[in-house]
Amino acid sequence: MSEALIVIDYSYDFAAPDGKLTAGAPAQAIQDALAAKIDLFYSASTPIFFMMDLHHENDPYHPETALFPPHNIEGTKGRELYGRVKEKYGEIKGAQNVFFIDKRRYSAFAGTNLAQLLNEREIDTVVLTGLVTDICIMHTAVDAYNAGYKIVVPSTCVASFNPDGHKVALDHFKNSMGAVVEE
Ligand code: ZN
Repeated sequence: MSEALIVIDYSYDFAAPDGKLTAGAPAQAIQDALAAKIDLFYSASTPIFFMMDLHHENDPYHPETALFPPHNIEGTKGRELYGRVKEKYGEIKGAQNVFFIDKRRYSAFAGTNLAQLLNEREIDTVVLTGLVTDICIMHTAVDAYNAGYKIVVPSTCVASFNPDGHKVALDHFKNSMGAVVEE
């Protein structure tokens, strides 16, 4: 088994108390566990992919423009990593197997070179962390499942603004995708 750690959308806008589309306290509550997970995987020389939502102001072509307030706008503080995860990234950025990759849809696979980078490294298992459990983590998990990856979701390293959606998503990962959902 060869793993990669995928850290999805842990931005200021999605996590900070005054973020533009914040998941609130549950998002802030995972920062220590997520930073510890990054540390653990980095120490083991596991590839780490920070996948980050990218928007441009008033983009009429992006489907999220009609669905959500503006968030994760290019070049703004809102699009930077948040809290302990930002600190941790500052310590490891530039290392050979640490990547920061823009994404423009919910799934970390949609329109990105993530699959190619995973294939080159013969990764068969993706460890999905970040925000939010029932949207971007869910869409990434669906694509990972359909592409044949094994999936691990540490439940202490994902969060949502929607407690019911969070629980349904974790159940779905486990029961319908055969994912290992760690307590
Ligand atoms: Zn977005």
